[in-house]
Amino acid sequence: MAHDPFAWTEEAARDREASGLVRALRPRPERTDVLDLASNDYLGLARRPEVTGAAADAARRWGAGATGSRLVTGSTALHAELERELAAHCGFEAALVFSSGYAANLAALTALTARGSLLLSDAGNHASIVDGCRLSRAQTAVVPHADPDAVDKALDTYGAGRALVVTDAVFSVDGDAAPLRALAGVCRTRGAALLVDEAHGLGVLGPGGRGALHAAGLADAGGRLPGGVVATVTLSKSLGSQGGAVLGPAGVVRHLVNTARTFIFDTGLAPAAAGAALAALRCLRAEPHLADRAREVARTLHTGLTEAGLEAVRPDAAVVSVRAPSPRAAAGWAADCRRAGLAVGCFRPPSVPDGISRIRLTARADLTDGQLARAVRTVVETAPER
Ligand code: PMP
Repeated sequence: MAHDPFAWTEEAARDREASGLVRALRPRPERTDVLDLASNDYLGLARRPEVTGAAADAARRWGAGATGSRLVTGSTALHAELERELAAHCGFEAALVFSSGYAANLAALTALTARGSLLLSDAGNHASIVDGCRLSRAQTAVVPHADPDAVDKALDTYGAGRALVVTDAVFSVDGDAAPLRALAGVCRTRGAALLVDEAHGLGVLGPGGRGALHAAGLADAGGRLPGGVVATVTLSKSLGSQGGAVLGPAGVVRHLVNTARTFIFDTGLAPAAAGAALAALRCLRAEPHLADRAREVARTLHTGLTEAGLEAVRPDAAVVSVRAPSPRAAAGWAADCRRAGLAVGCFRPPSVPDGISRIRLTARADLTDGQLARAVRTVVETAPER
């Protein structure tokens, strides 16, 4: 028989099996009795009739797909409106929509750095930032998690060259918020730019869900953020749609339009996704209390779990992370929850750099107090032995 050039993947699969780290795709049932604390639909907007209706209208009006890259046929009036409203909501001069938050991070990290510039990335940053750093030609250093002093030292050693500091606003594994006020202070003093990934901040933190930068008090009286700060967002979490954006000064956005490869060479965001995100943003602006409720739900979950003796990280936003004693225990815990009618996320190596396994609950603004009590009860009752 001819040599199978992919035989090594079978061996890798056996190794994964042996260490209990197999990942499998499981189609989500269309309608379900399962209580969902696994999705990122923080505000419960993904199924709102205004939002799904806007997606359908946009598809009918503009077509099912974008039909081309943004610079050719992929930009519609909806994309422009979404960019204007996102920028205004988040306190930036301009915004540029991408087909995903992942693509937005790759764009910002590659287009705003160059050979010879310095790029400092928090050790807990999301995979899309890690990949953006790898693609960038800058001199990249990973700095200790949430450590503005380490950032300051690295910038001091580097001196006067061009530098970019990148951090998640809220870290997806433990749900802790970055020390943005201190980081912004260090960047301002040292003349470095600050890039903040607001994937888990938009719609949840700050007044009306304007984001972590606002929660950190970095906006002026008019709600505008300083010129040295750039943010990325995803449209797929609090806005219940799909896609991403880079937000910043108009000059930065113009630079991305001309140089960011994931903007230029990628098909534009589908009109349905742009329409849905725009409708969801308008829901959030009309109902700013949704952001407060998402945080309140997270705190309620955390209180219930810690009072029952579980080790949960105090949530700064909508992510509640609960430690498990081993990768196998985490996977078994999530499976037991599912059997008991509760969907939760599961984080295990290699997705977590610190090797600590967790289950992850995501708060949703539309959960009732009864559903929250049921969720806490299920997680506590299925908890593994420690
Ligand atoms: N940044 C962070 C912190 C995220 O959690 C995610 C989504 N998992 C992304 C970026 C990527 O966004 P998207 O899913 O829109 O590609």
